[in-house]
Formats: sequence, structure tokens, C-alpha cells
Amino acid sequence: MSSDRFSRQSFLGSRAEEALAAAKVAIVGLGGGGSHVAQQLAHLGFRHFKLFDGDLIEDSNLNRLVGGTELDVTMATPKVIIAERVIRSVAPTAYVERYQARWQDHPEALRSCDLIFGNVDGYRQRWELQVCSRRYCIPYVDIGLDVAEVGDEGPKMRGQVILTVPGGPCMKCVDFITDENLDEEGARYGDAGPRPQVVWANGVLASTAVGLAVDLLTGWTRSVPSERVVYLSYDGNTGVLAPDKRLRYLKSSSCRHFTAEDVGDRALRPA
Ligand SMILES: [Zn+2]
Repeated sequence: MSSDRFSRQSFLGSRAEEALAAAKVAIVGLGGGGSHVAQQLAHLGFRHFKLFDGDLIEDSNLNRLVGGTELDVTMATPKVIIAERVIRSVAPTAYVERYQARWQDHPEALRSCDLIFGNVDGYRQRWELQVCSRRYCIPYVDIGLDVAEVGDEGPKMRGQVILTVPGGPCMKCVDFITDENLDEEGARYGDAGPRPQVVWANGVLASTAVGLAVDLLTGWTRSVPSERVVYLSYDGNTGVLAPDKRLRYLKSSSCRHFTAEDVGDRALRPA
């Protein structure tokens, strides 16, 4: 691009504009978190998007879904269409593939991606995306937010941003996903109900995830984490976002959950 659109982010490096424009990015879940991600990536200069979300916008989404309008609620617009509209308002010539479906119905569409953003509910869905990202050797950025009422202490808002890369520790290695929380979630399947979500906290987590992705693609901070995984915990009550203490117990900078047979599918693909 010959304009000075990206002049204020030239510190990202002389090849950053090219790298971001070439990167193929999947965004799974275009609700509270994913809608921020889509908007920010478009502003940054990303041009290749694959969008996955089977849902239509509802009135209860308008408190946080970036780009959503009252008319969209009336028209029951699919969330992937709203995201594409937001992207195209900034980057009219972007390549956008929309999947108004579960990503599991089109896993092959993820294979050619360079990066996957997961903005999904529950541990099971996160783990399935983690497995898929390993199979295709793709870095995966996960964000999530929850608000719990504990006794008389009032609401506690908690969230996380986790970046895992092929070969490095996965979300089980850092104890974010465990067999226990997968089993527990499976046991109360269907009872979860709508979870509390707010726009500012979704924005903090999505912005942080986007920042990690840009660093991964450009290397502008020149500080690759030695653990090859980033796990940030968000305390929404205090506004503190910091490395999760579970990282202290990380035993290895490699993953013990995926073997060589589980990964490398992508390597079989012609370059
Ligand atoms: Zn692992």
C-alpha cells in the first residue's frame, strides 16, 4: 500500500506491513471478544480473514458486539456478516471467507491459516481448537471471560489470554485445561446458561490477544518468551493483567500432550 495509512505503526518493522497483509487469520467466535479482534486486525492491515460463527445477533448481544446495530437485531443478522461489514468498512478489498457454522463443520478451512483466534465458550471447545491447531501446526490465541458470584463477596470478574505455539506447551501443560474441568463441564452440559460478559473486559482481552499476534508475526518487541507460551490472567475487579502464577510450575518448554504423530499435518501440504 503506497499511502501513509500505517505510518504511525512503522516501529513494527520494515516488513511488518507486508507480514500482516499476508497473514491468513481465522477468528472463531464473533461475539463479544471476536468482534473486537476482527475490527482491530482490519485497522492493523490484516487482509485475509476466515470468520466462524453460527449465531445470529440478539438484543442481549448489543451491550458488547462491536459493529452490531439495533437494525441488525431486528433483521437477525448473522454475526459473521456483521464482522465482515466492520472489516470491509476499513479494508474494502480484504479477502473474507465467512462460515456461518460451527468451525468443526469446516475444520479443513483452518488448515491454511497462519494464526487462529479462539473466542469460544467452555473448556471442551477450547481444547478441540487446541487439538486442531496442533494438528495443522498453527499458533493459537485463546481469550475468555467469566464473572462469578462467590458468597457475599460480590461479583468476581476473571479472564485469560493464552498464546500457544506448535511444539511449545499447550493449554493442558499450563494447567488451564485439565481432565477434571473437562469432566466437570461435561457433567453439567446444557446447564451453563448465558454467561455474563461486558464490552470493556472483552476489549482488554481481545486487544491483548491482538498485541500478542502482532508480536508473533513481526517480532517487534524482540522478546520471545523462553517458555514458548504466554498465559496472562485478568482480574477484572482490579484491572490487573499479569502472567498466571501457574506458569511457575511449568516443567518443560515442550508439550507432553501432543506427539509427533499429532502434529505436522500442515507439513504434508505442498508449500
Ligand atoms: Zn501440552
